[in-house]
Amino acid sequence: MNKLAILGGEKIRNRPFSSHPVLGKEEIKEVSDVLKSGLLSGFLASPGASFYGGPKVLELEKLFKDYFKIKFAMAINSATAGLHAAVAACGIGPGDEVIVTPYTMSASASAILMSNAVPVFADIEEDYFCLDPKSIEKAITKKTKAILVVHLFGMAADMNKIMQIAKKHDLYVIEDCAQSPGAHYKGRLVGTIGDIGIFSFNQNKTITTGEGGVVITNNEKLAKRCQFIRNHGEVVIDPMGFDEVDNMLGWNYRMTELEAAIGIAQFKKLGKLTKHRVELANYLFEKLGGIEGLAMPKIRKGCDHVYFVVAIRYNENAVGIPRNTFVKALQAEGIPTGNGYVRPIYLEPLYQKKTCYGKMGCPFTCAYYNGRVSYDKGLCPVTERMHFKELFTFNICRYPITFNDMKDVVKAVKKVIANKSVLLSNNV
Ligand SMILES: *Cc1c(COP(=O)(O)O)cnc(C)c1O
Repeated sequence: MNKLAILGGEKIRNRPFSSHPVLGKEEIKEVSDVLKSGLLSGFLASPGASFYGGPKVLELEKLFKDYFKIKFAMAINSATAGLHAAVAACGIGPGDEVIVTPYTMSASASAILMSNAVPVFADIEEDYFCLDPKSIEKAITKKTKAILVVHLFGMAADMNKIMQIAKKHDLYVIEDCAQSPGAHYKGRLVGTIGDIGIFSFNQNKTITTGEGGVVITNNEKLAKRCQFIRNHGEVVIDPMGFDEVDNMLGWNYRMTELEAAIGIAQFKKLGKLTKHRVELANYLFEKLGGIEGLAMPKIRKGCDHVYFVVAIRYNENAVGIPRNTFVKALQAEGIPTGNGYVRPIYLEPLYQKKTCYGKMGCPFTCAYYNGRVSYDKGLCPVTERMHFKELFTFNICRYPITFNDMKDVVKAVKKVIANKSVLLSNNV
């Protein structure tokens, strides 16, 4: 049998996996049209048509409104900006708490801090890795104003239950859809179920403009507030006759025409790109599904998965190799994979030290916040178990990666497992 690469043997895979994204003549045409027009950003922070951005921004927003069958879409320059705009638009501020999952990209929680509110972490479901409704209920206090739901890895959170909880406690629901554009929850597109939904076009996302994103909502008041927050609201609300001043400090979250142009071409490819992801992921599941100790992702009833990340559950006892050793051996074979996803957010120093703005502990010890939030290790045991023990992940199920590339992944997994005893006796 072939010697493991981690012990000096030959790698299964010597070539790198093709990089993402692939931009085609459609994107080039769109961008060159913008360059020829000379209008790189159509935004002005003053009343009038230019308050809403240039023609490409409006065209991209129209595509979103049509696809999601939703009243308002606002292009923004990152999903982080969009999440912050959404939190601020909901009127959230000092003294408030927002419930969020710790198993997500850091911005889902920092968007809450950006409004001077306090993120409260609830635990995840071990089957689907999204917020657990039971844990949300336990985290609710008098200060809770919203639930920030992340449809992690490409599949919807348990929205019916989450919406029921929100209704009962009069909370906003903000959907972070950065990883799940086009995913459905019981027939509805994610992003259209809560009060407001946010999408990302970051370089690594399914469709990309380098940096960028879109916020969607059916709520006119939230849409208007997001538009002010996007575009220097403080100088525009008065001339535009808007009399709510709270949280109307406007940032510069405006998208350029170049990004919007790329977004238009990319958005038209969303269906195809997603289909490719699903096909590659299903191939992997078919080949790895029978291996003892590896559990392929479960799909929530009535939902579809768009596989932004493929997360496989690993049973160390059944496989007989510690997870971290397994992952290291797989990486040595030339396969990009990782231990879990990202560290549970509350374990980051900002939360551990409860230091965000300046050195005085705001907003955690702000005079308007007399709650007592915990970020202790052990706070979300399922999240910690998934991250530190049970999951390994791939983000290579995407165009232009092929089934042949997937074959190398399968070969490498099988090779590592077949060499279990050598691996263990070498104390890797
Ligand atoms: C990527 C990502 C973000 C941030 O998106 P940006 O556009 O890079 O700001 C937020 N939430 C989740 C879940 C993400 O994956």
